[in-house]
Amino acid sequence: MKDTIKKLSGNPVQPIQMDLDSKFQFRCHKGLECFTQCCGKIDIFLTPYDILRIKNRLGITSGEFIANYTQLMKLKKTKLPFLMLRMKADSKCPFVTREGCTIYTDRPVVCRYYPIGFGLLKSKEVGGGDFFFPIKEHFCKGYEEDKEWTIRQWREAQEINLIDFYNKHWWDIVLNKKLYASELEPDGKSLQLYLMASYDIDSFRKFVFESRFLDTYDVDEDTVELIKEDEIELMKFAHEWLRGVLFGNPTYGLKKQKQKN
Ligand code: SF4
Ligand code: SF4
Repeated sequence: MKDTIKKLSGNPVQPIQMDLDSKFQFRCHKGLECFTQCCGKIDIFLTPYDILRIKNRLGITSGEFIANYTQLMKLKKTKLPFLMLRMKADSKCPFVTREGCTIYTDRPVVCRYYPIGFGLLKSKEVGGGDFFFPIKEHFCKGYEEDKEWTIRQWREAQEINLIDFYNKHWWDIVLNKKLYASELEPDGKSLQLYLMASYDIDSFRKFVFESRFLDTYDVDEDTVELIKEDEIELMKFAHEWLRGVLFGNPTYGLKKQKQKN
């Protein structure tokens, strides 16, 4: 499955299906002649938590990050679009320099996985187990190094488990089985809400605190205080709220609906 990462020329994806206990040999470091060669001509899918971290790293708003560094892309099998990191005119990542990645500790989850790809839809859509595959570029010398990993160890070392945890409700949205039912087609307003609540946390904050949102939705005071203070909690709240709006059975229902019941 090449949903999450794809090279623009050639096909470095190896036809090998891996699971969490599969092993591979790899080490990437500055001393290799290929250092940073992999940071270009690449589609990097962004998760909401990636965007939150990178926009804070850059000291800009999520709206500014989206406008200046991303492009919208729709995958063949999904009904919701995704944001991808926009490469520069020379096809290089905007964050790569000769010294390496300038946002390394906040790099996107796809970069953390590399040189492993993950099969987003095949595994989660059908309720199967996690599904991974190796990506071997002809120039990548990392596979010639002697350090051995399992996918599980690699995920831990790259902090991917933590990122998956923060993105959990969002994965529930984009991989929701109802989305694949032929009759469900998100309209323009739903898509707008999806894009804001998924990726544009600063606009979502304004939507919650500077509109009639809190008069409309039944959100308890503790949650209001929490999301006021903590941006990650606000992001998780956004995804939980969005899931209810798109698929029903909301955690935060309409106030007037509650009064009727
Ligand atoms: S974000 Fe960093 S690690 Fe990812 S492609 Fe760009 S420079 Fe490379
Ligand atoms: S070893 Fe592979 S992943 Fe590391 S810098 Fe070289 S090409 Fe990129």
